Amino acid sequence: MHYFTPRRCESSNKIMYHDKVQALRAAEDSRIERGTELWVYRCEFCGCWHLTHRDPQLHLQTQSFRGGRKPTSRKKGYKPRQR
Ligand SMILES: [Zn+2]
Repeated sequence: MHYFTPRRCESSNKIMYHDKVQALRAAEDSRIERGTELWVYRCEFCGCWHLTHRDPQLHLQTQSFRGGRKPTSRKKGYKPRQR
């Protein structure tokens, strides 16, 4: 039996992967086995790779979308006087 208990991060309590390939493989496994899509990111606390349910890039994308969506929008409550 090969059952290894992975180390966990002290900061996030997530499983630590020493390289990105390992983390990506684990993410792939969970997608196939459980249908859960996971993203891989590098932890600043331990310097290892973790898996997350949220896409870390999605946040940045929505922010830039919001900024570039209505560049010409004006103040609310602005009413041009009709006369
Ligand atoms: Zn960590």
